Amino acid sequence: MPHLLNIWPSVCRQLASAPRVLLLFDYDGTLTPIVARPELATLSDETRRSLSALAGMDRYVVGVVSGRALADLEVLVAIHGLVYAGNHGLEMRGLGMDFVHPEAPAFGASLAEVTRLLERELMEVPGILVDNKRLTLTVHFRNTPDSYGALVDSTVVAAAAPYVDAGQLKITRGKKVVEVRPNLDWGKGKAIEKIREECGDNPLPMFFGDDETDEDGFVAVQDAGGLAVYVGPIRERTLALHHLDSPAEVGQVLALLVQL
Ligand SMILES: [Mg+2]
Repeated sequence: MPHLLNIWPSVCRQLASAPRVLLLFDYDGTLTPIVARPELATLSDETRRSLSALAGMDRYVVGVVSGRALADLEVLVAIHGLVYAGNHGLEMRGLGMDFVHPEAPAFGASLAEVTRLLERELMEVPGILVDNKRLTLTVHFRNTPDSYGALVDSTVVAAAAPYVDAGQLKITRGKKVVEVRPNLDWGKGKAIEKIREECGDNPLPMFFGDDETDEDGFVAVQDAGGLAVYVGPIRERTLALHHLDSPAEVGQVLALLVQL
């Protein structure tokens, strides 16, 4: 699995051969280091400057594809001209889109009910954060002692079980999060395909991500002839063919792209 900076000249040749490039990034763990509380994850000045500069160039379409709620993501990033995909792509804005997956809002009542149960059942767990993002639900246990990990997971599974058994909701897991999501065939991969279609001119896609929900995004860009970049310590399980060590290195790549 090559480190992206080790093969940078060949990446540059590939980017130069494309009329336009679609640059997409996950947010937490990719553009910013993962921090104790989600609201504290802010872009470094350098990354912010580079993203703004790239968004202003005709050659690039730049977007952020995150599990956060769209409104939260837009406020945190707040860079003009970006495409924003929230709730793993169930809601998106930019490129003239104001998209909400047509089937997603119908799951709101079920997610609210699971949220209500979890807020009660996890009340005693130190550091737990139950975040109902309307279209998906995330339980964060980064600040919770490791000894509670299994309990948190099984409590989420039990609370969502009636809806999961009925085929309505599904459970996914990431770094110190368990999520409850509508059981729709829609995730970052489908979102990236839709963003690419909206571009209209078949741009070369690149997607950077660090977690499980980014994997179908990696597949989507590689199927389209683009580049998938896994961010983090090297691991076997990812389907991405390239890697960077950290969000700081993503920042370096952004600065190199600005200079191209
Ligand atoms: Mg991430």
